[in-house]
Amino acid sequence: MIVVHSPRSPDHDPDGYFRRGRTVPHPEQASRYGILLEAATGGGHAIEEAGDAGLDPLRAVHTDSHLDVFRTAWGRKAELPEIGDEILTGHFARPQMHRLPPGLLGLLGFHMADTSTPIRAGTWGAVYGSAQAAIGAADRAAEHGAAYALCRPPGHHAYADSAGGFCFLNNSAIAAERLRAATGGPIAILDIDVHHGNGTQGIFYGRRDVLTVSIHADPSDYFPFYTGYADERGEGEGEGFNRNLPLAQGSGDATWLAAIEAGLAEIAAFRPAALVVALGFDASEHDPIGAFKVTTAGFEAAARLVAAAHPTTVLVQEGGYLCDALPRNLAAFLQAFEARRGA
Ligand SMILES: [Zn+2]
Repeated sequence: MIVVHSPRSPDHDPDGYFRRGRTVPHPEQASRYGILLEAATGGGHAIEEAGDAGLDPLRAVHTDSHLDVFRTAWGRKAELPEIGDEILTGHFARPQMHRLPPGLLGLLGFHMADTSTPIRAGTWGAVYGSAQAAIGAADRAAEHGAAYALCRPPGHHAYADSAGGFCFLNNSAIAAERLRAATGGPIAILDIDVHHGNGTQGIFYGRRDVLTVSIHADPSDYFPFYTGYADERGEGEGEGFNRNLPLAQGSGDATWLAAIEAGLAEIAAFRPAALVVALGFDASEHDPIGAFKVTTAGFEAAARLVAAAHPTTVLVQEGGYLCDALPRNLAAFLQAFEARRGA
């Protein structure tokens, strides 16, 4: 398996975030990068550093204002004299608030959904590098059939103009746009992270050329709360091209794999030119913030299903937090995927 990563990934290392009334250690720690890379390296895969395709592939997904604020925020740090190692706002624009203010705190509150995406000195480099890993892996998949993008920070909670849920840039959406340009055909995204891929849904909600399918914990009492329900099917031209398969918290291998099979059947009927898999490992039974009970054998079975689904497939790393099972599940997934492909 070709593995594309960015050595800039660990440059964003957030301290803590506000969860259930108190500040707790941030789960999306920089060490995830080294742990995932070591697991991929140990599996004997072909490890490649991402190149630099510039900002244009990011502009295919995100608004200029969104990209500008995250690219320039740290350089504007002097505007906030009381700020320390992290720039973070506590003010968030609601849908009925339309004005984009010039001041940094207000601007950030317009482009953030919550307190989980602080900006530090290395943040832009890390999120830019993570996006470049997705672009590089999409290019390699278009050439060679499959590749894994070791994206960190993750991306599927980022909308075109909003960060949130540890995500700044939507790496899976960026990979999908890259593959759409390369193949000229429609693209399917299968999101198997335990959380609904709300940003990805939002980006493609009005489009019929990208089918989004997400399998996740029922959001009625789980992040991201406001999206991820089964009746969200797309709008306008995109009506019928968004599919959510929410499952009860505590769901295990059998339920999860049946949903993946159902999602892949819809994807097969769509006849995409390529498949993007938003690959979270936080469905694991051991994940510190997960809500499912998926075992390592479950991830292997999922890998075999995904591997058989489409000749052109890019796997994009999403969630999956620090626990002993994280590297084990990645290694097992990649190994089972390759074995099924006969690579
Ligand atoms: Zn997640």
